[in-house]
This record gives sequence, C-alpha cells and structure tokens, in this order.
Amino acid sequence: MNNNIVFPGDSVELDNRSVDIEEFGIIENNKIKPYKEIRLYKSGDSILGKIIDDQISVLFVKILPFTHSNIRYISNINGKIMVKDRGDLGMKLSDIILARIVKEDKDTFLLSLEGRSYGVVLARCSECGSFLVASNRRLNSKEGKNKIERLICKECGNEEYRAVSQYYGKLDFIKKILIHYSKGVD
Ligand SMILES: [Zn+2]
Repeated sequence: MNNNIVFPGDSVELDNRSVDIEEFGIIENNKIKPYKEIRLYKSGDSILGKIIDDQISVLFVKILPFTHSNIRYISNINGKIMVKDRGDLGMKLSDIILARIVKEDKDTFLLSLEGRSYGVVLARCSECGSFLVASNRRLNSKEGKNKIERLICKECGNEEYRAVSQYYGKLDFIKKILIHYSKGVD
C-alpha cells in the first residue's frame, strides 16, 4: 500500500500540527490533495508493475498506483507472473512491466503478459543503471509470438534482452492504455 495515501479517520502530522482526515487523499509536498475516489484494481484491469522478486518459477510484481481524472487506482496486494509466461531472457528485477490481471489467487493477483501490448516497458542497464533503449530488433522474430527484443544502453554500450511490450519506452501510449482499461472513467 502506498503510504502517502490517507483515509477518512486517519490523523496525520503536517507542519508540526495534527490534521484529522475526512476524505480520501494523498500527501504531496506536505499538503493533502483530495481524491474524488480511490479504487482498487481488480481482475481484467491492466496495470503497471515493478519486478520485485524472482523465485525462478514465479516473478513477484509490485503493482504501481495510477491516477487519472482525480481517481487513484491502487492495489493492496502484489501480482505474480508464472514462469512459463516470461520466456528465457524475459525480465529482471526492477523492470517495469505492463500486464493484465487475470484473477486473484492466494492473496496475489495472477498477471498475464499475453498480447503485444504487454511485457517490459522500461528497463535499466545491468552495468551502469541507465535506461535501456529499444533497438526494434527482435530475437527469432516470429510474428506476434516472440517478444524478446534487444535493448541498448546508450551510456555504456551494453546490450540486453527483454520480453518487451510494443510500447517499450513510449510512456504516453502506456498511459492511454491504462486509461482505456480503467472502466467507469470519463
Ligand atoms: Zn549501461
């Protein structure tokens, strides 16, 4: 759970004074910004997540909050990706992925990467930490099937491979997808 979020009934310290919270909000720059609504992600939604643990047979994913039209989407449980979906060279710790929630399973969301939109959307160089850039060159480019793409570090020249979304590095597109799949918005 994002600990910047405040709930009705909370009491928080701001500028050395205690403030009683009456509506959902988020603390930013020492101010409480109200939200019309906070909604929990559910099955069928598309999410942005960060790979936080690699257990070989399963990758664990922290589901990142997303805000649109004054509505904040959050998840209070993590996601997981079963290994058969990630490919041999697919993902590394700290990669940011776009995925779809399939169902809730034992206090986690089971995530799917099926479809060209889904996969890694942002990754850092293992050598120097800079963001990797898409090369648009796929490994064994079997149409629609293989998502493994060569990514390049412009800083140190390192090359790595990831199972990428077709929107790798295109954050504006990713935002549109998340808005599109947020049912009941606008
Ligand atoms: Zn590098």
